[in-house]
Amino acid sequence: MGYAGQHFDLIGAEDVAVFERAIWQLEPAQTPRPATFNLSNEKRTTLDFCFDHLAKNAPQARAEIALSAGAPYGAIAVNKDRCTLCMSCVGACPENALLDSKEFPQLRFVERNCVQCGLCENTCPEDAITLTPRLLLGKEAKSERVLNEAEIFACVRCQKPFATRQMIDNMLGKLGAHSMFTSPAALHRLKMCADCRVLDMMANVDHGSILETTK
Ligand code: SF4
Ligand code: SF4
Repeated sequence: MGYAGQHFDLIGAEDVAVFERAIWQLEPAQTPRPATFNLSNEKRTTLDFCFDHLAKNAPQARAEIALSAGAPYGAIAVNKDRCTLCMSCVGACPENALLDSKEFPQLRFVERNCVQCGLCENTCPEDAITLTPRLLLGKEAKSERVLNEAEIFACVRCQKPFATRQMIDNMLGKLGAHSMFTSPAALHRLKMCADCRVLDMMANVDHGSILETTK
């Protein structure tokens, strides 16, 4: 952040006199103006206040600082081509850094909560997560950001949203060659919600006309 001088030193001394001399020879490093917040019982909260104070008064503005592997701050990256939005990682995260959404099929992330424990990376069945140690500064570190999201798919019969486009495409791709789904009507039924599939099977409707209207 551009604070001049040496802020940390390791002094090796055989006796107290040598140690004291070494202490007094140290040059004071540049510091920000005194902070006015109280310390919290929660160490990470106190560190958050410290980071914010240091960043706010920094001689050189920094958006992020790279950290070494194993550091307890950082981001995660999600490979969108692999991620199926199964949300296993959300259940595995002990710090509420990974979140889902009640309204949309979305995987969200709050970076400042992430302790880089790696549980999400180990849990992901698609091997889609990579950890990146770093200290992100500013508002973005504490706000939710979307790591992956999917297009919502609505039932072709009742129009109720019930799945993601990716799930339906995968299902059609996997079941399309199966002997039980060779008829257009059976394949078309896969695009319906559970209730409509049952109603459709019972009604045994003519799908020729429906297929024409929902292409
Ligand atoms: S990143 Fe992995 S565990 Fe998380 S939602 Fe995507 S596929 Fe599931
Ligand atoms: S590394 Fe740990 S804290 Fe960070 S998102 Fe994954 S499970 Fe949550």
